[in-house]
Amino acid sequence: MLDCLNLLAHLSLRDKKVGWGSLPRKHVRIYNKPSENNEQVESVQWTFENIDDITSESELIPLAEFLSKKQFDLVINLPMRNGGARRVSSFMTHGYRTRRLAIDYSIPLITDVKCTKLLVEAIRLIGKSAPLMKTHIDCMTSRHLIKLPGLIDVHVHVREPGATHKEDYASCTAAALAGGVTLILAMPNTNPAVVDEESFLTVKKLAKEGARCDYGLFVGASSDNASSISELANEAAGLKMYLNETFTTLKLNDLSVWNKHLTHWPRKAPLCVHAESQTTAAIILLASLANRPVHICHVARKEEILVIKTAKEKGLKITCEVCPHHLFLSTKDIPKLGANKSQVRPMLVSAEDQQALWDNIHVIDCFATDHAPHTIEEKLSSNPPPGFPGLETLLPLLLDAVNEGRLTMEDLINKLYRNPRRIFSLPDQYNTYVEVDMDEEWTIPEAMPYSKARWTPFAGRKVRGAVHRVVLRGEVAYVDRQVLLQPGYGQNVREWDKKLFAPLPSDSRPSSALDRPISPLPHQNEYDTDGHTNEIFSKLLATDNKVHFGLETHHDLRQSLSSPVPPLVVPTRVRTESFSNQQERPKSRTDVYIQSELAPHHHSHGLVGKHILSVDMFHKDHLNYIFNLAQTFRVYVSKDRSLDNVLRGKVMASMFYEVSTRTCCSFSAAMQRLGGRVVYMDSNTSSVKKGETLADSISTLASYSDVIVLRHPTPGSVITASQHCRKPLINAGDGIGEHPTQALLDIYTIREEIGTVNGLVITLVGDLKNGRTVHSLARLLTLYKVHLKYVSPDNLKMPSHIVRFVSEKGIHQQEFSSLEEVLPYTDVLYMTRIQRERFDTEEEYKEACGHYIVTPKLMTRAKRRMIVMHPLPRVFEISPEFDTDPRAAYFRQVEYGMYVRMALLAMVTGRC
Ligand SMILES: [Zn+2]
Repeated sequence: MLDCLNLLAHLSLRDKKVGWGSLPRKHVRIYNKPSENNEQVESVQWTFENIDDITSESELIPLAEFLSKKQFDLVINLPMRNGGARRVSSFMTHGYRTRRLAIDYSIPLITDVKCTKLLVEAIRLIGKSAPLMKTHIDCMTSRHLIKLPGLIDVHVHVREPGATHKEDYASCTAAALAGGVTLILAMPNTNPAVVDEESFLTVKKLAKEGARCDYGLFVGASSDNASSISELANEAAGLKMYLNETFTTLKLNDLSVWNKHLTHWPRKAPLCVHAESQTTAAIILLASLANRPVHICHVARKEEILVIKTAKEKGLKITCEVCPHHLFLSTKDIPKLGANKSQVRPMLVSAEDQQALWDNIHVIDCFATDHAPHTIEEKLSSNPPPGFPGLETLLPLLLDAVNEGRLTMEDLINKLYRNPRRIFSLPDQYNTYVEVDMDEEWTIPEAMPYSKARWTPFAGRKVRGAVHRVVLRGEVAYVDRQVLLQPGYGQNVREWDKKLFAPLPSDSRPSSALDRPISPLPHQNEYDTDGHTNEIFSKLLATDNKVHFGLETHHDLRQSLSSPVPPLVVPTRVRTESFSNQQERPKSRTDVYIQSELAPHHHSHGLVGKHILSVDMFHKDHLNYIFNLAQTFRVYVSKDRSLDNVLRGKVMASMFYEVSTRTCCSFSAAMQRLGGRVVYMDSNTSSVKKGETLADSISTLASYSDVIVLRHPTPGSVITASQHCRKPLINAGDGIGEHPTQALLDIYTIREEIGTVNGLVITLVGDLKNGRTVHSLARLLTLYKVHLKYVSPDNLKMPSHIVRFVSEKGIHQQEFSSLEEVLPYTDVLYMTRIQRERFDTEEEYKEACGHYIVTPKLMTRAKRRMIVMHPLPRVFEISPEFDTDPRAAYFRQVEYGMYVRMALLAMVTGRC
């Protein structure tokens, strides 16, 4: 990188300025050549004003300011390999934000070392005759990214409880995410071992607190728990039986005990065995006598894979997994690794055994790491425990094999996603995917960054292929070599059945999931469910010509089933229509993409046909779904792409018993942008004048329409009305009661403007007693980790029931009477109107209001990087002079509202 830096400094960049982002933290230098004759380099520093540095450093200028004033012509931001190590921030990484800002302000951006070198070299060659930048050409990336589903590792040893110095849930799941694994199944040989309800509950609790990715938990078979352990079959990932010697206390020697477990454990619940050599044949025989499916772990030897192959050919219900270390290491590697480090069960195998695994790759159902971390000190001791860490190297090794043509991408997806889901009856993780860079070449270091093991048996191996980014249930989990999800985000997928997000519709969860002996062709629908984009992915859609979407990858991969050549190289897509000398994205493909993205899904959000009455009904996953869909719509609208097919044929009834320009128009516009129609009814021109009850009006309008939007001045009236409404009813505000869609659009605004909601200081100002928007907002914000500050006159404080609700959720809140005091710390300033009639005298009113007026002068005390919001209409809480400040988000907030309402309408009508 230093080479590039020096080159850049000596470039003839004419009058261009280049922003160079290489340092992980605050400072980035800007190289500038002010004039033709002068080879000077100007160094400038910029900062992100994030919540960590509240004291503002005046000499540092925020990057956004540079970019918004177009003071750069080009931004170069290179990811740092292992840079910044484990720093985890509640914001996105600075690198990510730099790139996002560059994109937001349409500044050409280079993110790739190779590209930077090429550019520098090209500019050097053409010298002073350098042409003006053609942005649509120059900001394309050279990365070759492919989107995969979130991968599943069915064999992981987390080591918690009992050996957290080796690994715990937080470190193990960080390693998983860094390796592109979004769901792990954890083995039961912990200390204590998971062999009864008590130990199962212990591990459940630890996993819930520590896991960053989703998980399932195995229970272990012991010599005396066959009948009791089967009671946990519904909650466990499966039952694990240890039939050979390894790192466990759970070894079972007695055939009659094996039999008891084979017969007691429910036939349809997964049962895994550690079986080697002859034991493999023995367990296959017993399982077939008991007529039940069995999954054989970490198959390593030729004799094992061949007996499994024969068993499958005979129709026996056997499935199996193979570990990367048996595919990529053999006894030949033992001298290099040393006798101690190479200890693993099953042992490393001969080259012949290894070749048999590759030759029978079609017999293998799953790849699994058997991630079994021990510290480097333990491995080098006189009594080295068997086992390798493997989560972080799994995917790079396999991508390398794909690049070498030893494996197809279809194999990889089958064995790390489709087959694990089928064999272990695992649910779909909504909006979860992994982007891999197929071209990145790197050498596996001595230790991978996240596992506590601090060593890897693959150190020194050169691979081509790397994990670029991981998204788990709509949240960016890993980017720029940093894991961003916190412990506690991960969920036990066996509990999803009990929750809203029942993962699989009944038709796609085969009741006989384990009855099929040999891997069937992949379920075509499974991969399609991930056709959504989220905000960042949409940005990539706009800027990155080499990201392949799920659909396309899927499409191509499906072709590969019948095509002899793995179609990994998809034609380059171009960023803009104007760049027409390369292959354009065909219209039909765009259409297909829209169809897939917005076509009916499994409706895993659970809001189809539901009334939207209160923010209390929302779960965090709902919000992610709504916001991701809103973001998709926003991209389509901004690109002038048609969305007419989404709600074509649907009618929305708009019933406003109280005036509202914004909400009413926003809903109508939302409906019409999706191709639906609107009928209006208001209390002045309808039968309400003749005394018709609300219930009757609702019943009538429900007969005409598919969804009703209702505003009514009486608190609770919308809930009453919903009892008479057989169509989905959306509350558009009921008196001082609720205004759920406003709260949704407020949070969506924060998310869009700042990039995250977690970790922010959010200050609510004004009439907090009567303002329904702030009540709904404060309640909904409890789904995030935020700090709430309330600023109001004494007689208009936040009601105690809201304060109690918020505090019960463990959210920090504080009351203030002065805005100045809290302003310097605030990330989001939410202003509301103070109503004159709440005060006895004009003087008191003026006195109260005077303290809460946003002016350019007051805002010099605020952070440079924060936003001001207002539900509107405003009176004089915000001076119009502030409107041109980039921090004034209130008019953008209005537009965001329409996208959120589009998403809600499409969801409740069952179209998205
Ligand atoms: Zn194991």
